[in-house]
Amino acid sequence: MADRVPQSLQEKIEERLRYYEDLGIRLFYRDRGTPKAAVSLAPEVSAPFPTSGLQENSLPKPIAKPLPPKAAVAAPTPRIAPIVAPSGPSLFESVDKIKDDALPKIREDIGDCTRCKLHKGRNKIVFGDGSPKAELVFIGEGPGADEDYQGLPFVGRAGKLLTQMIEAMGLQRRDVYICNVVKCRPPENRAPEPDEVTTCSPYLLRQIDVIQPKVIVCLGAVAAKTLLETTRGISQFRGEWLEWRGRKLMATYHPAYLLRNPNAKGEVWKDLQKVMAELGLQPPKKTRTS
Ligand code: SF4
Repeated sequence: MADRVPQSLQEKIEERLRYYEDLGIRLFYRDRGTPKAAVSLAPEVSAPFPTSGLQENSLPKPIAKPLPPKAAVAAPTPRIAPIVAPSGPSLFESVDKIKDDALPKIREDIGDCTRCKLHKGRNKIVFGDGSPKAELVFIGEGPGADEDYQGLPFVGRAGKLLTQMIEAMGLQRRDVYICNVVKCRPPENRAPEPDEVTTCSPYLLRQIDVIQPKVIVCLGAVAAKTLLETTRGISQFRGEWLEWRGRKLMATYHPAYLLRNPNAKGEVWKDLQKVMAELGLQPPKKTRTS
C-alpha cells in the first residue's frame, strides 16, 4: 500500500501547483535517472577564443572538474522523460496556451517582481536578450554586477568571453538568445538559492517555450541542474547530448569558470563544436593579413 502524503506536504504541493497554474504552466517533468557520461576520447583541443587577460567578475562558484578520459560508451539515451499531470487541462490545451505566450508578455507578467528575496538587492531585472526566434539558447545562473547595472545578460567579463565563444561558432549575439535561471542579481554574486530558483525558473521555462530553440546550452551547474532537475555534478553529464522536453540540451562550463580555469576552454570548445554540428554551423573563415 502506497504511503500517504502528509497533509502539510500536500497543502504545500497544492499551493505550488496553484502558483504554476497562475503562470500558465501545467506540464511537469521528472528526472528518471542520470545516464552514464559518455567520455570523449578526442585529444585536447585549444579553443579559438581567448581566456587570458580577462578577469572573473561574477558567478564565482567553482564547478566540478571534468572526468579524466577513460572509455567511450554508446550514445546517451534521453534521461528526462516528460510526464503529464494526470488531471487538469490536456497536454494540447496547455501547449496551445503556451503558443499564445510571447516574450514581452512574460516580461510584463514579471513586472516589478518581488516574488523572491532577490528583489531586495537588485538594480534592474535582467530578463534576457537576443533573437526570439533563436535556434540556440544559452542559459546562465543569474546576473552579476554589470548585468544588474545594465539590465542585460552576460555583459561583464564572463559575458565578453561568451560573446567570443558565440562568434567562434560563426554566430553573433543577436542570432542567439541569452538568459539566466534567476532574473535578479544574487548578493555578492552567490549562487541562487533553491527557493529563488524555484520561484523564478517558471519564467525561464516560459521563455524557452516561446522561443522553441533547437538546442539549449546550459552554462554551468545551476542552469543544468535546474532544467534537468538533478543533483548530479555537471561533470557527470557535461558535453553530452540530453533530451529535455523534446529539445536537445547540452551542459558545459560557465564562462566565469573558464576565467578561473583556462585549461578547461578546450573542453568547452569541443562541446560547442558538437552544437555547431547539430545546427550545421561553420566557424568563420579567418581573414589573412599580409
Ligand atoms: S529573481 Fe525572479 S522571482 Fe525573484 S524577484 Fe527577481 S524576477 Fe522575481
